[in-house]
Amino acid sequence: MYALSKNDEIREIQREILRLKREKSAYIIAHNYQLPEIQDVADYVGDSLGMAMEAKKTDHPMVVVCGVHFMAETAAILLPDRKVITPERYAGCSLAESITPEQLKEWKKQHPEAVVVAYVNTTAEVKALADYTVTSSNAVDIVRSIPEDKEILFLPDMFLGMYVREVTGRRNMYIWPGECHVHARVSPQDIARAALENPGATMLVHPECGCSTNCLYLKARGELSVPMEVLSTGGMVRYVKNNPDRDYVIATEVGILYRLQKEIGSDASRLKPLREDMVCEYMKTITAEKLLKALEKEQYEVKVPPEIAERARVPIERMLALSSPKR
Ligand code: SF4
Repeated sequence: MYALSKNDEIREIQREILRLKREKSAYIIAHNYQLPEIQDVADYVGDSLGMAMEAKKTDHPMVVVCGVHFMAETAAILLPDRKVITPERYAGCSLAESITPEQLKEWKKQHPEAVVVAYVNTTAEVKALADYTVTSSNAVDIVRSIPEDKEILFLPDMFLGMYVREVTGRRNMYIWPGECHVHARVSPQDIARAALENPGATMLVHPECGCSTNCLYLKARGELSVPMEVLSTGGMVRYVKNNPDRDYVIATEVGILYRLQKEIGSDASRLKPLREDMVCEYMKTITAEKLLKALEKEQYEVKVPPEIAERARVPIERMLALSSPKR
């Protein structure tokens, strides 16, 4: 008898996941920041917007969402007649948790005529109180589409809010002081250091999931001189494919490096993270073992109370209608 190595163990679990997935006609949707062992068995890997779009398209009776809780809630809101499960009930999001429904109600009372624009990283209850749900790729367009005389309450990511205000020049826009603990770590010093250590490298910034909105804000203010592209995941892959001779610094959660390497087969040393510690612990709580258990036991089912789901569906559908498919 010999003991299985950790990799062999994971491969065995992955085989079982794939078998059960077929048997139960389940569809696995994973976020780009998931562990490689999850990305490898997922039917779709993308950002939060892509995950929502994919959830809406699928006709499978069971959808397993490998991402943080608000992502599973969004799928459950869009698929009220389907079983939506998450392998980890406690995969939270510091950004989504930075505003509660009570705080938003109180804020709305102070600005009764304001239009509420909520970033997709919010709980279902907060979305239910919003007029628009946005991602960082369409936030500018949506804010521009709101009549100029209308006040706007923008939440919860203050960096994205500051960026949007800078780009649109909107002065009657109030911003909730929320942030993601992972992306708040990105400082101008990190960007300056990366530019010094990687002369000629291009910085690729993913615009979703609160990612690197510090960078977006600095760029909008013209305080960032390194070559920088703000791209969706699919955009990053296309960009690297179209510019194969460059070096890159990836300014977002490190999980995306696996996705990029896998998709483009590029020399791994050409892709560097801006910071090695840009790791979302919540995302990494989902493991192959938990995913297998989720499929076996069909747990944990995510249910959003119908009255909240009904209201939250409106801003989500508006967001989807205003977004083009991206991977
Ligand atoms: S990286 Fe930040 S915004 Fe994204 S899920 Fe993790 S805590 Fe939330």
